[in-house]
Amino acid sequence: MIISIASGKGGTGKTLVATSLALSLQQNEKSVQLLDCDVEEPDAHIFLKPSLTRKEIVSILIPQLDEGKCTYCGKCAEVCAYKAIAVFSKHVLIFPELCHGCGACSYLCPEDALSEINKEMGIVESGYSKGVEFIQGKLTVGEAMATPIIREVKKYLNQERLAIIDVAPGTSCPVMEAVKGSDFCLLVTEPTPFGLNDLALAVDTVKELNIPRGVVINRDGAGDSKVEEYCLKEGIPILLRIPLDTEIARLYSRGITLAEGMPQWQEAFLGLYEAVEQITFTQIKTDDR
Ligand code: SF4
Ligand code: SF4
Repeated sequence: MIISIASGKGGTGKTLVATSLALSLQQNEKSVQLLDCDVEEPDAHIFLKPSLTRKEIVSILIPQLDEGKCTYCGKCAEVCAYKAIAVFSKHVLIFPELCHGCGACSYLCPEDALSEINKEMGIVESGYSKGVEFIQGKLTVGEAMATPIIREVKKYLNQERLAIIDVAPGTSCPVMEAVKGSDFCLLVTEPTPFGLNDLALAVDTVKELNIPRGVVINRDGAGDSKVEEYCLKEGIPILLRIPLDTEIARLYSRGITLAEGMPQWQEAFLGLYEAVEQITFTQIKTDDR
C-alpha cells in the first residue's frame, strides 16, 4: 500500500505525521519505506536521522547547439512546449532552466544541429533508519524542476513494503507527481482559516487524481470548527487529531518524532493506519461491484 501525506500549506505537521506513522508501523512489525518527495526542502531526515549509504545524481538531457549546422529555421522553437528555445534571424537562445528534457527539439531539428548534454538536477539518497527504508530527493539549489527528482525517488517504491510518501506542500505539479499512484492520501491541516483554505485546494487536487482521502487535524483546539464543518460537508473522514500541546511542539522543535518522544502515540498512529486500510479496502470492494 502507498500512503501519501500531503497538505495544502507548509508547516501543518505533515512530516510529523509521516515520520511517526512510519516508525509506529515499523515497530509493529510492518515492513515500511518512507520516501521524502518534498525535494525542494526535504526534512524527514531531521527526524529519522537515517544512515544514508547510497547517493545517485539525477540529470536530464538538454539541447546543445552546433551553430555551424543551424539554418535558423525555427522548427525547434516551434516544437518546444516549454518555450525553452527562441530562434532569431541569426541567433538561437536556449534556456536550460525551462527545458524539461523531452528531446523533441533535437529529434526534429532538420539539420541535426542540436545534440544533447547532461544537466544535473539533484540527487537521490537512500539508506535506513530504525528499520525503515528511507529515500529522499534533493533538488539542486537554483533548479526549478522538481518532478524529475520525484520520479527518481518513486522508482524505489517496493510493492512488498508499505510506502509512506512525504509530499511537498501546496497543489502544484510536484504535488501531483508525488501523490499520483497512491492508494490513499492523508491531508494534514490545522483548524484555522488558512488551514481550511489550503485544505480545500489540496482536496480538489487529490479528487482530480481520484485517490481516497482523509484528514489529520494538527494543533487541534487552536482555532475554530470550520475545518470540521468542511470535512462533514465534503464527506471526508477526520482520521486523527493531534492537539495543540507544548510538549509535542517541544519535541518537534528538537527533531524528535512523536512516536519516539511520546511512545503512547504509536497506538494512535496504528489506529490511523487501520482506518486508512479499512477505507481503501471498502473502496476496492465498491469498485469491484
Ligand atoms: S531546428 Fe535546428 S536548424 Fe532549425 S533553428 Fe533549431 S537548431 Fe537551428
Ligand atoms: S528538450 Fe524539450 S523542453 Fe528542452 S528545449 Fe528541447 S523541446 Fe524544449
